[in-house]
Amino acid sequence: MDFTIPRHVEAIAHRVRQFVEEEAIPLESELLRSGADLSVEMVQELRRKARAAKLWAPTMPKAWGGMGLNIQEIAPVFEAAGRSLLGPLAIHCAAPDEGNMHLLHKFADEVQTERFLVPLAKGETFSAFSMTEPPPGAGSDPRMILTRAVRDGGDWVINGHKWLTSNGLLADFFIIMAVTDPDAHPYQGTTQFLAPRETPGIHILRDVPVMGGVDFGGHVEIRYEDVRLPHSAILGSEGQGFMLAQSRLGPARLTHCMRWTGIAQRALEIATDYASGREAFGGALTGHQAVQWMLADSEMELKIGRLLIHEAAWRLAQGEQARVETSIAKVQVAETVSRVLDRCVQICGGRGISRDLPLSTWYEKSRAFRIYDGASEVHRMVVARDVIKRYGAAEQG
Ligand SMILES: Cc1cc2nc3c(=O)[nH]c(=O)nc-3n(C[C@H](O)[C@H](O)[C@H](O)COP(=O)(O)OP(=O)(O)OC[C@H]3O[C@@H](n4cnc5c(N)ncnc54)[C@H](O)[C@@H]3O)c2cc1C
Repeated sequence: MDFTIPRHVEAIAHRVRQFVEEEAIPLESELLRSGADLSVEMVQELRRKARAAKLWAPTMPKAWGGMGLNIQEIAPVFEAAGRSLLGPLAIHCAAPDEGNMHLLHKFADEVQTERFLVPLAKGETFSAFSMTEPPPGAGSDPRMILTRAVRDGGDWVINGHKWLTSNGLLADFFIIMAVTDPDAHPYQGTTQFLAPRETPGIHILRDVPVMGGVDFGGHVEIRYEDVRLPHSAILGSEGQGFMLAQSRLGPARLTHCMRWTGIAQRALEIATDYASGREAFGGALTGHQAVQWMLADSEMELKIGRLLIHEAAWRLAQGEQARVETSIAKVQVAETVSRVLDRCVQICGGRGISRDLPLSTWYEKSRAFRIYDGASEVHRMVVARDVIKRYGAAEQG
C-alpha cells in the first residue's frame, strides 16, 4: 500500500487550509457570535472567493473547473477544508452535493450530465439524495423501501414518503430511490430517478429540526405524490438502484470521515491552546496528567482514523469495493470524532460549553455522524459478517 501524498496535493491541501483560515473561520466566528444562520448569499460569496483562488470542486474534472483529484488524493484536501463546517461548502466538497456529483459522474448519460451534473459541478445548482423513509419504510435496512415507481406508457409515476433528505430546501433536483419491480429482490428491483424540483407532485412537508441547530439546505420530509417522470429520468439502468447507491455511499462515507477529521483536529488544537494558557491547582492544565492523556488519546485515535481512511481510499482507488474497510473506517472515525470532541469540551470547561467556541456546536452536530450513511451498529454488522465468514468457517473446518 502506498499512502504517499504527492507534493502537488500537499500544496493544494496547504492552500485550502489557508483559505479556510482566512475566509471561512472569520465568517464562522461571526455566525457564532450573532447566532445567525448561514445564508445562500454567504455561501455564494465564499464560493466566489474559492473559485477565484482556484480551489474548487476537488473531485470534479479540470475541464469543469474542478481539481481532478482521486479518492486518495482528496483525503488531506477534504481534511483541510473540514477544519470549519463552512470550508467544504466553500470549495464545493460538502455532502450531499459531493456524493451526488460522484454518482452522476459515474452513471449519468450525456444528456443527464449536461442537464444535471455540469451546473452542479459549477456550483450553479444544489442537489439531494432521497433514500431514507420514516417507519415503516427504509432506514438502516434499505431493502425496506416502500416508495414505488410504476410504469405508465413511456413514463414512470412515483409515490412515496421520504425524510431526512439533506439539502431538500435548496435542491434543484432530487435523486429518488424507488422500487420498480416489487417481485424482484430489492437489490434488483430498485431504481434511481432524477427529478427536477419543479416536477409536479414533489411536496416538501417540512424541514426536520435536528440536533445542533439549522443545517444549510435542511433535512426535509417529502411526500412524492404521482410524480411523473420520463423513462430518461432513470439514472444508470432500471433495477440498478442499489448498485448505484453502494457506489455512491462507499466513497461518501470516507469523505465524511475526511471532513470530520478536520473538525476533530481543529478541536484538539483549540483545547490544547486553552489548556496551555489556563491555570488550575498551581500550574497550567497541560501539566496535569489527566489532561495530557485526553490530548494523547485524541492524537492517537485521530492518527488511527487517518490510516484507516487511507487504507480504504487506497483500495477504492485500486478498483476494489472495500466495503469492510470502509465500514471499519466509518465506525472508527465517527466514534473517534465523538470522543475527541467530548474530551475537548471537557478540557475547555465552561468555555467549551459556551458558544464562544465552536466546540459545543460541533459536539452537537457530529452526533448524527454515528447514524447517517449507516449507523455504527450496521457497519459493525458488515465487519462481523466478514469476520465470521473468514474465521468461523476455519473454526468449523
Ligand atoms: C443529519 C442527517 C442527515 C441525513 N441525510 C440523509 C440524506 O440526505 N438522504 C437520505 O436518504 N437519508 C439521510 N439521512 C438518513 C440516515 O441515513 C438514516 O437516519 C440512517 O440510515 C438510519 O436509519 P433510521 O434513522 O431509519 O434508523 P433505524 O433504521 O430506525 O435504526 C435505528 C437504530 O437502530 C440500530 N440498528 C439498526 N440496525 C441495526 C442492526 N442490524 N444491529 C444493531 N442495531 C441496529 C442503530 O443503532 C440505529 O441507529 C440523514 C440522517 C441524518 C441524521
